[in-house]
Amino acid sequence: MRRLFLILAILVIPVAVFAAMVLADRNFGRPGRGYDYVVSVDLPKADAARRLPRIEGPLDASRPLVVIDAGHGGKDPGAGTGELKEKTLTLMLAEALRDALLKQGGVRVALTRSDDTYLFLGERPSIARALGADLFISIHADSTEADSGALGATVYTLSAKGSNEAAETMAARENAADQVYGVTIEGQNGDVSAVLIDLAQRQTQARSETFAGLILREGRGAMPFKGAEPQSAAFAVLKSPDVPSVLFETGYINNSSDVARLMSPAGRLTFAQTIARAIRVFFARTATAP
Ligand code: ZN
Repeated sequence: MRRLFLILAILVIPVAVFAAMVLADRNFGRPGRGYDYVVSVDLPKADAARRLPRIEGPLDASRPLVVIDAGHGGKDPGAGTGELKEKTLTLMLAEALRDALLKQGGVRVALTRSDDTYLFLGERPSIARALGADLFISIHADSTEADSGALGATVYTLSAKGSNEAAETMAARENAADQVYGVTIEGQNGDVSAVLIDLAQRQTQARSETFAGLILREGRGAMPFKGAEPQSAAFAVLKSPDVPSVLFETGYINNSSDVARLMSPAGRLTFAQTIARAIRVFFARTATAP
């Protein structure tokens, strides 16, 4: 009897152990059952080009390219202390302008950001330059002390002071290899580069001012403006030496009338159609220029 038990044990125990191992493997050895580990390593971003946004509109690369920059984003909310943040409003307006331009046709469009992404100031004009933009418009909303009664939009171009400073900085940084209006500045000494950049930038500045004037001309009567003339200031995002650039403060985020206008679909459509018209006239005027 004891012998029979031993024989059975010798036969049964290995089978039982094997079955137990198979069961354990099936139940606990599968991925996701807590016994496997995923090791992930955050690799650095491959290169800046990966961050370049998509270009929408006609495939024809000879069509002018407008880069629309929705101000702020991500950890930088911009102005606005209430529920509405500037970064949210600027993205809505940027998308409305993109849609109006695509509907109007004839131009290609790219947004520096199409979601709640944080971008450095310098990245914004860099994206425009890297894409070969013909026009850059940065969209913002002003803020002022409550009850000041400030209302309406303001168009900014780069100030003269900013222009010179930008020319010097560009010359120093881009001395190695770059092209400004088709003039290769590689190998030029710093002074010559500064002059070439300054020449290009003067032409760019003139075009920026033309565009700013067109926004006011097309917008008059359609939307409120704070002043009758474009303003200028040393905005970092306007410092591209070869892309006409304008910063548009669309209104005051703490003025209920401006907010009601910009948050309504009709108000955004008016904004978008006005700027789209100004852009069409701008390209019609500058098409024959060198
Ligand atoms: Zn802003």
